[in-house]
Amino acid sequence: MDSSEEKLHTLLTKIRDFLRAEVYPLEAEFLRRPFRELLPTLNSKRAEVKALGLWSPHLPEEYGGPGLKLREFAHISEELGRTPLGHYLFNAQAPDIGNMEVLISHATPEQKELYLWPLIQGEVRSCFSMTEPEHPGSNPVWMTTSAIKDGGDYVINGHKWFTSSAEGATFAIVMAVTDPEASSPYKRASQIIVPTETPGFHIIRNINVMGEEGSDYASHAEVRYENCRVPQGNLLGREGEGFTIAQERLGPGRIHHCMRWIGICERSFELMCEYAARRELSPGVLLGSRQSIQEWIAESRAEISAARLLVLHTAEKIDLEGAVAAREDISLIKFFVAGILQKVLDRAIQVHGARGLTDATPLSYWYRHERAARIYDGPDEVHKTVVARSALKKYGVKVSL
Ligand SMILES: Cc1cc2nc3c(=O)[nH]c(=O)nc-3n(C[C@H](O)[C@H](O)[C@H](O)COP(=O)(O)OP(=O)(O)OC[C@H]3O[C@@H](n4cnc5c(N)ncnc54)[C@H](O)[C@@H]3O)c2cc1C
Repeated sequence: MDSSEEKLHTLLTKIRDFLRAEVYPLEAEFLRRPFRELLPTLNSKRAEVKALGLWSPHLPEEYGGPGLKLREFAHISEELGRTPLGHYLFNAQAPDIGNMEVLISHATPEQKELYLWPLIQGEVRSCFSMTEPEHPGSNPVWMTTSAIKDGGDYVINGHKWFTSSAEGATFAIVMAVTDPEASSPYKRASQIIVPTETPGFHIIRNINVMGEEGSDYASHAEVRYENCRVPQGNLLGREGEGFTIAQERLGPGRIHHCMRWIGICERSFELMCEYAARRELSPGVLLGSRQSIQEWIAESRAEISAARLLVLHTAEKIDLEGAVAAREDISLIKFFVAGILQKVLDRAIQVHGARGLTDATPLSYWYRHERAARIYDGPDEVHKTVVARSALKKYGVKVSL
């Protein structure tokens, strides 16, 4: 084992031990109670993670993290993904993780001081506000929210939804059109930091998703921006770069989701096998003795292992060549791993029978929450088009998104 492998191994072991001893036992309460009621407990666990030196494992060393390559972080993220609380307790949760990455790459020193460092310390939360109910999120260059210059400010007006974690967030990174006349649609929008206490930032409601209204970090808000005035100094990067920055953000964001989904798959697989090995169909006859169950176990094992290899391959490519070069690989794993996730979760629930629908395990929680995996950060169909477009290009066929 070389020194970087050893460093990763040590970190993984510490994280695994902490999750099993301190976090899995919290799941039963988490599954039954609203997020806000658990905040005091979760905050004290976050403090423990910090004290153990395990905080923000995705960050480079200069920002207080372990400085792992993406390929290495994939293993950590998988481990965190095995419990619905993992990423949050280690400060590596979406959308904050994506906002941290964007701020590291594009924020000015003043913006870093005001927004990035408090996020890194876990003192605040943030949200990312791009999708609008009136326009297809799968075509991110089509939006109405505008930011018009007035004096030294931007005045923002618009309507967003699915701004995840907006409740309780200190700031939003908002995508708004700053130059509607730009000849390229990719140059019309910019990203602007909006403190949520700014007059005109209104959370209309937390949207009911799969029967749950959610709260705080675990919520998805509809937001209106009504003459929301922020200094021009809140612009992220340059004007007109909003789409480029969003692409930069969403590439790594998608692979972060895939890494987490492998963790969910592994835990579901374990739960499926454990139950098949103890549930008796009649005295002495185990569920696991049935061929249909064995088939689900074998197929799940093969699919999860294949998905992990694809994710690691893509992470390595991003490490070596950057997210733009890995665009098709990212699209490929986004729909492929999301599909495996749905299949494995469904089989694990089926093996548990009615118990699979209860809160006795995290399976039903994941089943509700992760149906969205095939939609957020680009629906399956768009990612499949990206992959097919590249394959067909070699044959002279032009495919538009
Ligand atoms: C749980 C969750 C959290 C989210 N969090 C955030 C967030 O924090 N911030 C934010 O800004 N947004 C967020 N979103 C929004 C998300 O990014 C969008 O839902 C997504 O981009 C799809 O956009 P849409 O819902 O408008 O669907 P549409 O774009 O209207 O598409 C509808 C359907 O049409 C099909 N389709 C679309 N395009 C094509 C195509 N080219 N070819 C073939 N079929 C196609 C797909 O099946 C798709 O599901 C979140 C969404 C969910 C579900």
